[in-house]
Amino acid sequence: MNRTILFYDERFKNLDFGDGHPMRGDRYQKALAEFKNLRILDRLDLREPDLISDDVLTLFHTKEYINLVKEISKRGKGVLGSDTPGFKGVYDAALLSVSASVKAADSLLENEADVSVNICGGWHHAFENKGRGFCIFNDIAVTANYLLIKGINKIMVIDYDAHHGDGTQRAFYNNSKVYTVSLHQDPQTFYPFMTGYKDETGKGEGEGFNRNFPLSLQCKDNEFIQNFNEVEKIASDFKPQFMIIQMGVDGSRECLISNMELSPAAYDFVSGEIMTLKEKLSFKLLALGGGGFVHPALGRNWGIQIKNFIEG
Ligand SMILES: [Zn+2]
Repeated sequence: MNRTILFYDERFKNLDFGDGHPMRGDRYQKALAEFKNLRILDRLDLREPDLISDDVLTLFHTKEYINLVKEISKRGKGVLGSDTPGFKGVYDAALLSVSASVKAADSLLENEADVSVNICGGWHHAFENKGRGFCIFNDIAVTANYLLIKGINKIMVIDYDAHHGDGTQRAFYNNSKVYTVSLHQDPQTFYPFMTGYKDETGKGEGEGFNRNFPLSLQCKDNEFIQNFNEVEKIASDFKPQFMIIQMGVDGSRECLISNMELSPAAYDFVSGEIMTLKEKLSFKLLALGGGGFVHPALGRNWGIQIKNFIEG
């Protein structure tokens, strides 16, 4: 059995874009109820994250943007980016969420766990200077930069949320130390539309260290699994010291935000394969929540994956 930490804070519920928006604050508590049903909750080491400082946020974000989030947070209104409205306390809620990802990375660096999980993470659309697509601060980019400073020189990000991980791709497009991979619904038919295509393979020093796997509109388990097999080859060649996964489940058949039609078996398969890779390559594994907006499918599809992390 693997030592698995779940970073969790009741105040995750404050990250709530309000009535009519898919991203609501109750999704974490509802997921936990599902973890209990799956009998994995008592096998997880639950920890509350300490808050990180603004200095850590600036590992990816501009000071101007951080200040804008603070201002909107105080004022209680304003817009952070497309589909990303501001609200009172938005800075504190977003900071707590990034803190959980960074502290989860710390727990792995300090060898307190085999796998560390933050379900209130995986905000892959945020750019350095603006919020986008429900994402305020890009905890994946902040955490990967934090790991680079800590001397980890081979980091791999695998993102299988239904949407292309465009903010993360952009953050490391010129970087050969952070290999970014994203599997997602074809952006010709889906947000973010502009990026996520096969020919985006990195630039300069980062050429060959970015891969995209656009999937068909109504992608089912077989296609997803076939493409994931390619990802496993990439990981085996790259041999990361540290793996960050964005395990978003908005490609599940219940979640109508995408057109993808994945069943729980697809999430069971990829998380199981990641654990096989972990065994072979001995990397540290940080798992971040990502998308998923329908209950109880969200908690169940995350839970299936976490069960594999615990059981290896
Ligand atoms: Zn998504």
